[in-house]
Amino acid sequence: KISKRLQTIADFVRAGARAADIGSDHALLPVYLVQSGKCPTAIAGELNIGPFQAARKGAAEAGLTALIDVRQGDGLSVLSPGEADTVILAGMGGSLMTDILEAGWAAGRLNGVSELVLQPNVGEDHVRRWLVSRDYVLQEETIIEEDGRIYEVLHALVCGDQQEAQACNSRLYNVSSLPLKMPDASRKEWLFRMGPYLLHNGEELLRKKWRMELDKLERVRRQLSLSALDESRDKQAVLAGEMQQIEEVLECLP
Ligand code: SAM
Repeated sequence: KISKRLQTIADFVRAGARAADIGSDHALLPVYLVQSGKCPTAIAGELNIGPFQAARKGAAEAGLTALIDVRQGDGLSVLSPGEADTVILAGMGGSLMTDILEAGWAAGRLNGVSELVLQPNVGEDHVRRWLVSRDYVLQEETIIEEDGRIYEVLHALVCGDQQEAQACNSRLYNVSSLPLKMPDASRKEWLFRMGPYLLHNGEELLRKKWRMELDKLERVRRQLSLSALDESRDKQAVLAGEMQQIEEVLECLP
């Protein structure tokens, strides 16, 4: 049995897809996808030697070395164009994730990949922005809680041609749909930070996540208020502005 987080990621993978899990660590996801019959084959990519060996061991112990190819290398460099239908990146920060995606995209490693399943631990906005910048369309997103941590999982597809993808993305990130008093640029920012589907659905866990963020910022603000430095006063003002915006966005959730 795999964790709720990994199960949520696996559920987004299209049945029958050849999946590549990049940053696979113990190869738990490829093993699950192949063992369950959801994917005929899978590739597990790992940069670091320890996790690479763990992935090899995971595939071997499951008796799946013929169906799961474990490869060592940086990001998408382990993939040849056309080898995978679905790319999965999970359990890393959003900016590392977008660095990996962008380098892979530039090198043509995403050619032929029709689906991305992405679970950034932080910095989800970087990932959503990257998807738009390269004309992928977010199809669904979900938010879950496991062991006291909240995770977002994003499912993006290649959709038609570039024009069609851009039209889909401008509908998805349409700021006029948000009843907020802030400028358009900030409203757009919040669509990227909270996620267009999560925000419009008013997900309860999204509220919880951003209330936790508010609590964190409040603790930082209190710490800063103990200092008499001008610099700390400036930082407090920035924090107060950020907190006010979060509160405003939370109030507008349905
Ligand atoms: N994907 C698994 C999951 O969600 O449970 C493992 C996540 S683990 C926290 C992140 C993994 O990404 C580590 O094993 C790390 O070695 C790997 N990693 C980090 N940078 C990488 C890169 N540029 N290319 C491939 N793997 C990378």
